[in-house]
Amino acid sequence: MSTITGTDTDPQRSLEDLLHAAFGFPSFRPNQEAVCQAVAGARDVLLIMPTGSGKSLCYQLPGIARGGTTLVISPLIALMEDQVAKLKALGFAVERIHCGRGRQASRQACFDYLEGRLQFLYISPERLRVAGFPEMLAKRKPTLIAVDEAHCISQWGHDFRPDYRMLGQRLPLLRPAPVIALTATATPRVQRDIIEQLGLQHPASFIHGFRRANLAIEVVEVPPAERSLLVCELLRDAACRPAIVYAPTRKQTEALAVELSALCPSAAYHAGLDAAHRARVQQDFLEGKVEVMTATIAFGMGIDKPNVRTVMHTALPGSLEGYYQEVGRAGRDGLPSRALLMQSYADRRTHDFFFERDYPEVAILDKIFEHLTAKPISKAELQERVTLTADLFDKALEKLWTHGGALLDYDETITRGDRRWRELYTAQFEHKAAQLETMIRFARGADCRMTALVRHFGDRTDRQSPCGICDFCEPAECVAQKFRAPNTRESAMIPRVLKALRAGGPKSSGKLHSELCRTGELSRNEFEEVLGAMARSGLLQLVESVFEAEGRSIPYKSVRLTRAGSSNEGAAALEVLIKDTGEPVSGKRRAKGKKSVPPKEQAPPPADVDPALEQALRAWRLAEAKKLAVPAFAIFGDKTLRAIAAHRPVLNDELRAIHGMGLSKVDKYGPDIYRIVRSHS
Ligand code: ADP
Ligand code: MG
Repeated sequence: MSTITGTDTDPQRSLEDLLHAAFGFPSFRPNQEAVCQAVAGARDVLLIMPTGSGKSLCYQLPGIARGGTTLVISPLIALMEDQVAKLKALGFAVERIHCGRGRQASRQACFDYLEGRLQFLYISPERLRVAGFPEMLAKRKPTLIAVDEAHCISQWGHDFRPDYRMLGQRLPLLRPAPVIALTATATPRVQRDIIEQLGLQHPASFIHGFRRANLAIEVVEVPPAERSLLVCELLRDAACRPAIVYAPTRKQTEALAVELSALCPSAAYHAGLDAAHRARVQQDFLEGKVEVMTATIAFGMGIDKPNVRTVMHTALPGSLEGYYQEVGRAGRDGLPSRALLMQSYADRRTHDFFFERDYPEVAILDKIFEHLTAKPISKAELQERVTLTADLFDKALEKLWTHGGALLDYDETITRGDRRWRELYTAQFEHKAAQLETMIRFARGADCRMTALVRHFGDRTDRQSPCGICDFCEPAECVAQKFRAPNTRESAMIPRVLKALRAGGPKSSGKLHSELCRTGELSRNEFEEVLGAMARSGLLQLVESVFEAEGRSIPYKSVRLTRAGSSNEGAAALEVLIKDTGEPVSGKRRAKGKKSVPPKEQAPPPADVDPALEQALRAWRLAEAKKLAVPAFAIFGDKTLRAIAAHRPVLNDELRAIHGMGLSKVDKYGPDIYRIVRSHS
């Protein structure tokens, strides 16, 4: 057992002593000390700092200082194992309980915990759902509770985990220990959610360090068909590696990895690969044996590789929070690094496609709700009455159920739920749409990229000065974005814009466009590009603003002159360069105009469904649903069920390839499913 324990001398002194003696660090990183003091002093704390900034120490050190056991709730087994290994190496008494561990090991961990032998106990959130487990923990209360990746509790974040929802109910049982919630990503709304749902009491909030001085962000418009070529072109230069390339689909990550392998060791990473394979390629990447990781967003949580030089996105991400997390994996060592985002209008269409598929209109849910009464109706009958296609009906019903509007029994008979579903669903619907809108606005932005990000995250200690290295601040350093001289129509517009602003003061870009392009001089997009170019050269300032009307927020861009733009001489000295999108002016990089279609994960070809197998699976699913007291589709939907019956998986890899089977479902249900499939072969 470790001999390192808290001391009862001068608390200030002892925190620093512990830092040296127990953790072997020479000094605190920025903000760590203040946070440790608050936690050691039993304050509830909300800590928001970027990944890699050293948040773990902010509960580990005060945990040791306070003595007793620190309970850590952590959502990912890999993250947990990593922390546990590090703490063990330092000589601390640490255990963990998660679904990847055997019954005996977990029992021993509980035993050690109850005996007071542990300094840290790590658990995964779903443990708190196991009957009797929270009560067991409460028999010997922890002295500190840390909730890692706390943004997972909020459905307004980008990583919502239903299991985190339970924390709010279970934590009171484990109090009065102080609670520290940690995350690298939280907008003001998610922050409120964390505080409310975890029941943090007058928490001290620390929100710091979102600015990354060594990260040059570049956003470039590239048609989808040309993106993989550009990725290869740019990564040819060894100085741009190691690199992570985020692609939107599993197939694309694999195709890219193949292409890139001609240049350097590359590997794909996505949730469809089995755990051992994922662990291996991740390790190879950490050790430098793989130089480029092509990945879906499944890759990266908790990854701490200091020397990633480039992070690329081959498509527009769905939220700015996710994007920031991903680019934040570049340049942890403080050396110059680059983030490149490729996008075009096609990305917006793709997002719209998925949004429409995953978030049916409120009116469709209304239609289902209107057919519900207190009298149970079968799912099949309801579907017939509302006359919706099976996919749409399933999706809409699922949403209605999630938000309480429909009550489903485990055998999927349905009764009417609470009317309030409408408000809840509408809020979620609008939030998702707004997230995408924010991302699009960021991509189009004519403003320092880093400042825009820092502003978004509400880091109020930041000075908001231009970063000096992004595509807005330093266009000459761009690696992918090309610039060209303005054409005649664009050239003619520049003095007219200056004149209008000098005469009439600041204006919205929309208004300026309608005033100056009455006879179709430039399209709205072309006009925005000219404004962007004028802003880059220092003639204008474009400020994203929001206009409140009838309870809605309408974003717009306000255009004003800079000092240089206000005077003729100042303006004459600045050269205006337009972004070259490869559109009409130059034909470079433009392939045969292939149309983009929404990315589709390749479904395996349909096979014959054995009706007996389908029946057996249904019966098993029903029994499982009954056990958990959830409707059958919450186990998995009919489409997935039929796919299982058709493809007869007997291995994790095969089951994982089926749409609707995530990793946790494969772990949970795989053995049962294989048994049933085998008994029908
Ligand atoms: P986060 O959870 O914020 O992403 P971690 O807590 O995993 O970051 O810490 C990232 C790295 O920084 C770890 O390797 C950790 O050992 C190291 N670290 C943390 N605090 C210090 C410190 N005061 N001095 C030196 N290294 C530190
Ligand atoms: Mg962490």
